[in-house]
Amino acid sequence: MNENSSNTMALTSNTSNKRETVCIFGTGDFGRALGHKMIQCGYPVVYGSRSTQISNLIPKDAEVLSHAEAAQKAAIIIIAIQRQHYNFLTTLAEILHGKVVVDISNNLKLNQYPESNAEYLAQLLPGAKVVKAFNTVSAWALQSGTLDASRQVFVCGDDMEAKQMVMNIVRALGLTPLDQGSLLAAQGIENYPLQLFPMWKFPIFLSFGLAVFFFFYCLALNVIYTYIYQKQDFSFFIAISIPNQVCPVMALVLLAVVYLPGVLAAIIQLYRGTKYRRFPDWLDKWMLCRKQLGLIALAFASLHVLFTLVGPIRSFVRWRTSQGIISQALNNKTEPLDNTNAWLSDSYLALGILGFFLFVLLGITSLPSVSNNVNWREFRFVQSKLGYLTLILCTAHTMVYGGKWFLNPLAYKWYLPDIYMLSLVVPCTVLVIKFVLIFPCVDKPLTQIRQGWERTPKYSE
Ligand code: NAP
Repeated sequence: MNENSSNTMALTSNTSNKRETVCIFGTGDFGRALGHKMIQCGYPVVYGSRSTQISNLIPKDAEVLSHAEAAQKAAIIIIAIQRQHYNFLTTLAEILHGKVVVDISNNLKLNQYPESNAEYLAQLLPGAKVVKAFNTVSAWALQSGTLDASRQVFVCGDDMEAKQMVMNIVRALGLTPLDQGSLLAAQGIENYPLQLFPMWKFPIFLSFGLAVFFFFYCLALNVIYTYIYQKQDFSFFIAISIPNQVCPVMALVLLAVVYLPGVLAAIIQLYRGTKYRRFPDWLDKWMLCRKQLGLIALAFASLHVLFTLVGPIRSFVRWRTSQGIISQALNNKTEPLDNTNAWLSDSYLALGILGFFLFVLLGITSLPSVSNNVNWREFRFVQSKLGYLTLILCTAHTMVYGGKWFLNPLAYKWYLPDIYMLSLVVPCTVLVIKFVLIFPCVDKPLTQIRQGWERTPKYSE
């Protein structure tokens, strides 16, 4: 044993006495990575393999024996073999009787088999205590030590003691075990690594759809309309001007979409007079992806800030400014400062800056490392109260900016409202409903319902 590992052994044996030997079946990628990590953490490791020849890849301090010999040396056997090769384990059923057998396998497709791999293993080895664990950790992460994103290890099994033994190993490896209950949970745990950003699908599709719609809306009103009726080519608006209209509109609409399901849920609860009936599925799903919607909204808001900041260096903006100066010089007339305009411009900028600041704060508090450090009340205060304040500030920012267009007939090209007016529909709806909901005559019954009161109780006392 080299000096480092003997130091580790000494340290671990001081703190938690001697670690129990662990047996790993299979010397493949995962078996080797897990064995290596276990030896680092002070566990004696013995491999059960089809070949007992020691290769360079196998951790130096591990023993390699036949499956039967290796299994006899440990109380815990980790099966680092693909499910399709499990059949040979039936020949070891007697040796594995009463032992803790850990299934770490994954599949290639969701619900690939009728039963989970762990349940299948339990059927093959009826006398063993099967526990599911480690399948959400990759061999690469174990080996490279980059476990930050995958520190959580889901564990499930029918035998409490066996599960506890596995959870102790998980902890000793510096990972976080999450008890998921009985072996029935194994199918879900096996499906977990196969999911591709499940919570992001709806937010991404919705954002993409809305962004495309708003882009073409702006293109029609600001480029095509001007080309047809004023014979001016503003096609270069596609690069910055139109994205800088789409981004703030998207940020505002998506932020409102984050708070819309909350007010809809309140209306449903008030109408039903109970909180004990499930919301419709679409509303449940919508509520679950509010964080993702909010983060996409923040990304659009940040892009809007960047697009706005480059304004002064744009050739079109510099040309328009110089045209204004030249026209004043030619007419020998200095335009006086328009105080109302100055107020409007400064107010909309100030509202935008404050709104963006709170938007960033909301984004930061949604990060797990931050949200784990605040209690439930603090989290609700930021996400709900500050969230609504952000929505109010951003809505006011848009209103002050685009407000002057509401009564201007020129704003209605092809009888269509300007994009800023369009963007206010959802936020204003949410704010109006929320305003009604905070009235004491509405808020009181709603609070009672949320505390368990029912208008027509299902079970009378
Ligand atoms: P692998 O590299 O293909 O290794 C599997 C090992 O199984 C082989 O090295 C071999 O070990 C043994 N084996 C192969 N055919 C066998 C047979 N017919 N009978 C008995 N043993 C046989 O696979 P892996 O990547 O290590 O994955 C092992 C398990 O861990 C899989 O169930 C996988 O889903 C799971 N897993 C892997 C990862 C990962 O990142 N790789 C992550 C999570 C979970 P011997 O030559 O020593 O017998």
